[in-house]
Amino acid sequence: MRTDVLGVAFDNVTMDEAVDWALAMLEEDGPHLVVTPNPEIVQRAAKDPEFAGILSKADLVIPDGIGVVYAAKILGRPLKGRVPGIDFASALLERAAGTGRRLFLLGAAPGVAEQAAVNLRAAYPGLAVCGTHDGYFKEDGPVVDAIRESGADIVFVCLGFPKQEKWIAAHGEAAGARLYIGLGGSLDVFAGKVERAPESFQKLGLEWLYRLAKEPSRIGRMAKLPLFLVSALGARLKGA
Ligand code: UDP
Repeated sequence: MRTDVLGVAFDNVTMDEAVDWALAMLEEDGPHLVVTPNPEIVQRAAKDPEFAGILSKADLVIPDGIGVVYAAKILGRPLKGRVPGIDFASALLERAAGTGRRLFLLGAAPGVAEQAAVNLRAAYPGLAVCGTHDGYFKEDGPVVDAIRESGADIVFVCLGFPKQEKWIAAHGEAAGARLYIGLGGSLDVFAGKVERAPESFQKLGLEWLYRLAKEPSRIGRMAKLPLFLVSALGARLKGA
């Protein structure tokens, strides 16, 4: 049974369970979709039925942000914890490296996915990165062909939401991989272009604050976060 948080149904999984599920998906024909909603994604889904439909049909829905975990708590149906998309991706690669599974990186500015590939190969010896493509393409066909021809099993799709999830829903089958994960800005982090918060901030659930300090222009996006928690409280009081 999934846990509803303001219209998006989450799988109540720990990091290890999420990785186990993803590895199991690699044993079956695809396409499988893993999504990592944060509060912004939940808010977007409430206004975008197509996006909400894709999220509801995803094979694994993991709570990316601390805001989702707080909202679930406010709603009276706590989740086991936060499973940040980027940590999930790293944990998956750790276990998939050396198994012969092939990874394709799609997204971000030109050059970023290539740099991410170099860094990931160094971090996970034996990892087979079979291809990369930037996220600023005009035609889908050549990208689908590139993924198919690479023989990828796993594709990290990092085009920002809801574009990445819609792209996977539209092209995942044709591109032939078994597992697609929508991972937002993760390639920028893997490439070393964007720094993650120090672990102490992550442990305190304050990664968002660190990110805001580094990129103050995000204030508009983040200002919606308190409203998200207020919506959760409103829903609780209405008995949702
Ligand atoms: N991006 C892309 N193609 C686009 C729009 C965005 O590849 O058409 C990339 C962008 O370069 C960035 C990522 O998608 O690497 C979105 O990052 P953001 O930090 O906004 O996503 P979040 O992690 O917050 O979902």
